[in-house]
Amino acid sequence: MVSVTYTCPYCDTVVEIDRDAYLADKSVTREPLAGYEYSSTTGAYEDADGIDFVCIGQPEGTSSDDGCGRTFYLNYVTFENGRERDDGPSLEDSPRFDFRP
Ligand SMILES: [Zn+2]
Repeated sequence: MVSVTYTCPYCDTVVEIDRDAYLADKSVTREPLAGYEYSSTTGAYEDADGIDFVCIGQPEGTSSDDGCGRTFYLNYVTFENGRERDDGPSLEDSPRFDFRP
């Protein structure tokens, strides 16, 4: 497990979550992406397409920042038929996987 942080797109509060390192992030959005299934941070989010965060800020004691309480979405890089699904803006210009024969 690794500890990763995301920034709330509404108020710039940083939230933190532990998750498996193999999962790749695609983007953080204010609205859910079409076709994605999200899990809450207390659910089986590693089996979902992304996570719906509620902006509650850092765990108590680590920061004085308070979150705004709004929901935002982390989208994993997902694959369909061996190719990266192209359904939203990416965090970065990463090389595209192309498995065409
Ligand atoms: Zn926020």
